[in-house]
Amino acid sequence: MAGTVVIGAGLAAAHVVSTLREEGDDRPVTLVGDEIDRPYERPPLSKGYLQGTAERDSVFVHSPDWYADHDVTTRFGTTATLVDRAARTVALSDGTELGYDHLVLATGSSPRFLDIPGARLAGVHTLRRLADSDELRDELAHRQRLVVVGGGWIGLEVTAAARLAGLEVTVLEYAALPLLRVLGPELATHFAELHRAHGVDLRTGVGVDGFDGSAGRVTGVRVGGEVVPADVVLVGVGAAPNVALANAAGLAADARGVLVDAQLRTADPAVLAAGDVANAHNTALGHSLRVEHWDNAIRQGALAARSILGRPDVYDWQPYFYTDQYDLGMEYVGYADADDPVVIRGDRAGGEFVAFWLRDGRVRAAMNVNVWDVNDQLRALVGREIDPSRLADESVPLEEL
Ligand SMILES: Cc1cc2nc3c(=O)[nH]c(=O)nc-3n(C[C@H](O)[C@H](O)[C@H](O)COP(=O)(O)OP(=O)(O)OC[C@H]3O[C@@H](n4cnc5c(N)ncnc54)[C@H](O)[C@@H]3O)c2cc1C
Repeated sequence: MAGTVVIGAGLAAAHVVSTLREEGDDRPVTLVGDEIDRPYERPPLSKGYLQGTAERDSVFVHSPDWYADHDVTTRFGTTATLVDRAARTVALSDGTELGYDHLVLATGSSPRFLDIPGARLAGVHTLRRLADSDELRDELAHRQRLVVVGGGWIGLEVTAAARLAGLEVTVLEYAALPLLRVLGPELATHFAELHRAHGVDLRTGVGVDGFDGSAGRVTGVRVGGEVVPADVVLVGVGAAPNVALANAAGLAADARGVLVDAQLRTADPAVLAAGDVANAHNTALGHSLRVEHWDNAIRQGALAARSILGRPDVYDWQPYFYTDQYDLGMEYVGYADADDPVVIRGDRAGGEFVAFWLRDGRVRAAMNVNVWDVNDQLRALVGREIDPSRLADESVPLEEL
């Protein structure tokens, strides 16, 4: 019996293997990952770990002994190079081959490369792995001027960490506001104001033309006719799903991810995909989507394991994500469009509020900002038709909406 092979030893993969074992599967399980580290959580890499407030040990999903204790074979530091679906084998970079009964593609995503002059100069960083965070942390400790290209979640979290470390920070964002595509104008303005209030030089509607350097190291970022001085740069312009293996194996996969059904199966029922790489059919939303968030990797990892075990569970939950920037902590549940009308409950100016996105009278998404222990209640409101004036009225408890 060949058992299950999981490719990509990240967060989704970790939850595939732990769920298989928790649910009593005693068949062989092998975890293949190209990083030398065992699975870890990435959110701290742009927050506490980058700031030096979270220990390295705290980011790992399992203890070092967990894998042997649970009879999970690990092949860390090893890349899966080819999947032969007819033979049900995976070729590995060390020249060996693994057979499988079930294969889970949990290969995650990679930072988009900004293909402009100077992009490979020393001091120009992206952030995905532990080593990236180590390098950036070292830079933040020794440099004065950070330029962040891209005002997305990772860019803004690094901005906050750098400001807290005392650096001057310029953020260069192509859109009219940071996070505009996700949050829409009113809430994107909230984040823009937050960063400006913390002394960030936030420039929007600007495209970066290239990086200047001296002796191989970045010295500035070219924007229009101007050069913004920089002695360290973070490029945070999004991530692309790692679909090369799936493509080569003849599976439906493109820039939107590996296409899977609501049980995370590809057209080949022996092959599943989970986490950042999966473009999965969500039964609550009624369409497929790819979600690049922590909660999704955990839940889809568990779901892929249950599908392998023949359980009837499906991808039926609302997406969820969170961020921490300075003293702002927020959680978002649901899936709204940026132009959906927004209703605010609470004090946006004071920084403690809940935002609701609505369409056709129904709540599509909700976000709690510095208001805690309400996200489960908000999740229960998503999809419901609720009078906007009641949503905004703090005298009506959330549980009575
Ligand atoms: C800096 C940072 C901060 C984040 N903060 C938040 C946050 O605050 N909130 C939130 O909700 N989400 C956050 N995320 C997103 C979250 O971490 C991801 O959604 C999650 O890690 C996805 O898990 P995954 O297992 O699908 O992919 P990954 O964690 O990327 O794991 C995939 C692994 O597969 C490996 N791999 C790829 N191809 C192969 C191959 N051929 N052979 C072997 N191995 C391979 C990759 O190297 C990687 O190790 C953050 C991400 C980053 C990078």
